[in-house]
Amino acid sequence: MKAAVLKETSPGERRVALVPDAVSRLRPAGIDVLVESGAGDGAWLSDAAYADAGASIVSAAEIYRTADVILTVTRPPSVSELRAGQAVIGMLAPLADPEFAAALAARGVTVISLDGLPRTLSRAQPMDALTSQSNVAGYKAVLVAAGEFGRFFPLLITAAGTARPAKVLVLGTGVAGLQAIATARRLGAVVSGYDIRPTSKDEVTSLGATFVELTSVGSAAGEGGYARELTAEERQAQQEELTGHIARQDVVITTAQVPGRKPPLLVTEDAIKAMAPGSVIVDMAASALGGNVTGSVPGETSVTGNGVTIVGAENLAATVPTAASAAYSRNISAMLLHLTRDGALAIDTSDEIQAGVVIAHDGRVVHEGVASLLQPAQPQSGQPQSGQPQSAQPESAEGGPGVDGPSN
Ligand code: NAD
Repeated sequence: MKAAVLKETSPGERRVALVPDAVSRLRPAGIDVLVESGAGDGAWLSDAAYADAGASIVSAAEIYRTADVILTVTRPPSVSELRAGQAVIGMLAPLADPEFAAALAARGVTVISLDGLPRTLSRAQPMDALTSQSNVAGYKAVLVAAGEFGRFFPLLITAAGTARPAKVLVLGTGVAGLQAIATARRLGAVVSGYDIRPTSKDEVTSLGATFVELTSVGSAAGEGGYARELTAEERQAQQEELTGHIARQDVVITTAQVPGRKPPLLVTEDAIKAMAPGSVIVDMAASALGGNVTGSVPGETSVTGNGVTIVGAENLAATVPTAASAAYSRNISAMLLHLTRDGALAIDTSDEIQAGVVIAHDGRVVHEGVASLLQPAQPQSGQPQSGQPQSAQPESAEGGPGVDGPSN
């Protein structure tokens, strides 16, 4: 079987789906690796490094013509060149854009999306790209905040005076938030964390941070370890109580997400107005739908009238491309090996992992959650139309929350 790596073409995307190290690990399973010339450039991985590892360096055209499986980080650049019988594996966000999956299905392309992985299954953990990329993003969010902040993070006692440590609050302590806490602690900040899932308290405190407990809103633990969406009353109570905590911080990093929903607003205009000049907010949930912070825009940094810098983070993992690619490469290699039998892809959606990640196969959208979002005219799984889950909504995302989860 020929597995191929295309150069990523999304704006700002510097990651690559496989690093050279993976080439020799795939070969024993009968997988030969083709790499588009220049695919690793953004992550400082040369064609020569791939060739030394045993890969063939080829053109994109040859990949589209000859590859059995195309490995990507995000979407393949050209849908029209994909052939029937070919498979694409990547983070393809099919719940966010089911039409894309349908278009590939119509071409007879097998679509496998790592962001549909059932994440709490322990045998799936080596394949968990959402987690590996959120880890990278959480780390980078702290560096971005430190870069914007006009003072030190650690306590510094020098002949020129004493600098008090920065106070950092992390809102949303899932994978990215916990890594942000750990990174801010390593930089010497005084760190606190808050999450609507009370079970995260132990994780926050084990990293040496303080857990912020709100009295006005209780637990909102949802399914699969994720949070549920708050009611309007809960949301307002949470925002009001958080405002007092936010006002005392130098830096706030927000990561809160609810699968399939608009990110919850945690830092209101009033909270921003209560912060001191020079404070910094990094919103990792910034999206076209809005983020955790009033006024944050993905990819943009702005300064409010009262001197608070708001960074709308966008694809932070791509800005640490070598580490992010190395981790992603392990995830996608593990997935490819899981799917491979006797040197070929063996699609079997009775397998719990495959049921989450296989979106289209044999010309049909086979993932129920994605199929339910499509118009009746689109190629679908053959399931009845009525009663199908609306999988973009978290309470019914049977294919596993996170299929359209944060890109971080
Ligand atoms: P996520 O990106 O969906 O959300 C980030 C955090 O935001 C979550 O912790 C969530 O509880 C929090 N949040 C949502 N709404 C909020 C609100 N209104 N106020 C405050 N916080 C809010 O989460 P994630 O990082 O993908 O992780 C989700 C869960 O999955 C966690 O429990 C994590 O430990 C778990 N997980 C488990 C495994 C595993 O078992 N191998 C792997 C990955 C993640």
